[in-house]
Amino acid sequence: MRLLEEKIKTDGTIISDQVLKVDSFLNHQIDPVLMKEIGKEFALRFANEGVTKIVTIESSGIAPAVMAGLYMDIPVVFARKRKSLTLIDDLLTASVHSFTKNETNEISISKKYITEEDRILIIDDFLANGQAALGLVDIVQQSGAAVIGIGIVIEKSFQQGAEILASQGIRVESLARIASLAEGKVEFLNEKVEELI
Ligand code: 5GP
Repeated sequence: MRLLEEKIKTDGTIISDQVLKVDSFLNHQIDPVLMKEIGKEFALRFANEGVTKIVTIESSGIAPAVMAGLYMDIPVVFARKRKSLTLIDDLLTASVHSFTKNETNEISISKKYITEEDRILIIDDFLANGQAALGLVDIVQQSGAAVIGIGIVIEKSFQQGAEILASQGIRVESLARIASLAEGKVEFLNEKVEELI
C-alpha cells in the first residue's frame, strides 16, 4: 500500500535493525485519514469471505481494526492484556510474549463475543515473530470459530512471523512488508523485487 509505505519512509524512526517506531501515526498519535485508507484496504482484500467479526489486541490494533470493521460493517473485539474488574468469567485466554517489551502477557477475550458460527478476521499493527497473531489464532480456535485470515499493517518480513503463519496454512495480508531496517534505511519487499527485475 503505497500511501502507508510513504508514511513509514517520511515519519517512521528506525530504532535498531529490528525495530521501527511509528508513534506519530499508529502507536501513539493516530492518523485517522491513513487509518481510514487502511480499513478500506483490509475490507477490499477480505471481501467475499463471509467475515462476521474482527479480532484484534489492545492497544495499537484497535484503530486499524475499527476502520476495517466500519467498512465491512461488522463488530470488532479486542483482546485485553490486563485483567479487568469487569472481565472475570468465561474467558478465552492465551499467553503472548511481547517482542518489543520482552514480557509475557496473558491475553483474554470474553467467550460471549466469539461463537462457533463466527468467521474471524484477525488484525494487528505489526507482525514480527508472530507471537501476538498466534495467541489470537489460539483464542479464536478455542472458541470453535474459523480464522479466515490475518490483516497486518506493517510486516517485518525479515522476522519469522509471516513464515510461521503461512506454514500453518493461514492467509496473511500485510499492507507494508519491510525487507530490511539495516543501515538506518527502510527497504520494502516490493522495492527489493523491483531491483531484481
Ligand atoms: P510479534 O508478536 O509478531 O513478535 O510482535 C507483534 C507485536 O509486537 C505487535 O503487536 C507490536 O505491538 C509489537 N512490535 C513488534 N515489532 C515492532 C516494531 O518494530 N515496532 C513497533 N512499534 N512495535 C512492534
